[in-house]
Amino acid sequence: MDKVALAERYQQVKATIPSHVKLIAVSKTRSVEEIQALYDLGHRAFGENYPQELRDKHPLLPADIEWHFIGHLQTNKVKYIAPFVHLVHTVDGPKVLDELQKRAHAAERMIDVLVQVNIAQEETKHGLDENEANALLSHWDVARWPLLRVRGLMGMATNSADMAQVAAEFHGLATFFRAMQASNQVDPAVFTEMSMGMSGDATTAIAAGSTMVRIGTAIFGERA
Ligand SMILES: *Cc1c(COP(=O)(O)O)cnc(C)c1O
Repeated sequence: MDKVALAERYQQVKATIPSHVKLIAVSKTRSVEEIQALYDLGHRAFGENYPQELRDKHPLLPADIEWHFIGHLQTNKVKYIAPFVHLVHTVDGPKVLDELQKRAHAAERMIDVLVQVNIAQEETKHGLDENEANALLSHWDVARWPLLRVRGLMGMATNSADMAQVAAEFHGLATFFRAMQASNQVDPAVFTEMSMGMSGDATTAIAAGSTMVRIGTAIFGERA
């Protein structure tokens, strides 16, 4: 690993992120040494996609890392991350919420979540459509999920070079986010986060109102 190149890429990325936007360094497939090197540069928020990979890395790295879970989350994998995860970006329905509640209770902690909305023109992307997300938020059951807090929304744009399309998708999510905030379905003091933007589209996402960008390649280099 080239620590000088890592530091340069990190500073370059940071220079493009305004201070009100949180930078999450996506460290899926990266070694513990690479994550530690970015930690040593002062970075604390990391994102992982695979529950077992995160479970295995977590004890090998400093305890004050804020771990964001950004991959598809199956209910049978929740147990691997529930004791320590900072924010789950990819909630897509009541089943995973029930399991998160159960595991939060066992771990005697609260867990913050985002609802993932499918904004892309791609079959492969996960998440709820706006109607489903609206239904989930309007029927949010505090008695059923007392240890879960819904902090906002997450979305991934179509993987496309057509930045007008990407921008339209992010603006669509932002419009839905603001409609939810203005409704009485969420607590606007808690429902404050919009996780959108990756290496290829972070600038577009920030222009549309993102509060959290998830960046891997631009910091760590191409994944193997
Ligand atoms: C891998 C991944 C990222 C980071 O992608 P880069 O193009 O490497 O920045 C962001 N969000 C999610 C959900 C991912 O799976």
